[in-house]
Amino acid sequence: MKLVLLGAPGAGKGTQAEILCKKLNIPTISTGNILRAAVANGTPVGLKAKEYMDKGALVPDDVIIGVIKERLAEPDCKNGFILDGVPRTIPQAQALEDGGVHIDCALSIEIADETIIERMSGRRTCPACGASFHVVSNPPRKQGVCDACGGELTIRKDDAPETVKARLVTYHRETEPLKDFYAKRGVLKTVDNRPSIEATTQAICETLGI
Ligand code: AMP
Repeated sequence: MKLVLLGAPGAGKGTQAEILCKKLNIPTISTGNILRAAVANGTPVGLKAKEYMDKGALVPDDVIIGVIKERLAEPDCKNGFILDGVPRTIPQAQALEDGGVHIDCALSIEIADETIIERMSGRRTCPACGASFHVVSNPPRKQGVCDACGGELTIRKDDAPETVKARLVTYHRETEPLKDFYAKRGVLKTVDNRPSIEATTQAICETLGI
């Protein structure tokens, strides 16, 4: 299964990807997590990406295409993968296709912008391992501490309200056209966001027939 998760930032792609990758036993590839690790390690890719990420802007396509091609060439991707947060532009989707990566399903999680703005204010992320929590809907066992690795949870700089609004504008302009791109290839499916993580997972599984 080669699955792409589409949806606005904060739609719950990362959370659902974590659940689905266990169920399907395939890796989740999040360019956001790869880039945050690169920033933390001060690599050349990280240095280039940071200025865009802090503003809520998209990192240039050539950087992303390099990162994703390298990751997809790793052996754990041979039986399939879940792409979370990539592709985010038509050129990225086209580059995957041109590189022989044919997507079986692009699943778009549909959610209103207002719900996202409310939701993002409660998001907490582990800078050490990338795990994501929410103070109301998905709290860690111990406040401020990552369940997965014990790291200290933080508010991502790009989750600040002004940055979230900028990211939504970018999403509608650059990423939403991907729904049409994948619809033309007959692989687009949509699911409405539900009030709980579990209900959204159930809707996704029904839509995917898994
Ligand atoms: P995410 O964790 O997926 O929300 O990504 C966080 C930030 O990383 C985004 O706001 C972008 O600045 C950058 N980023 C992640 N994935 C991509 C991508 N596919 N294309 C461009 N920028 C990206």
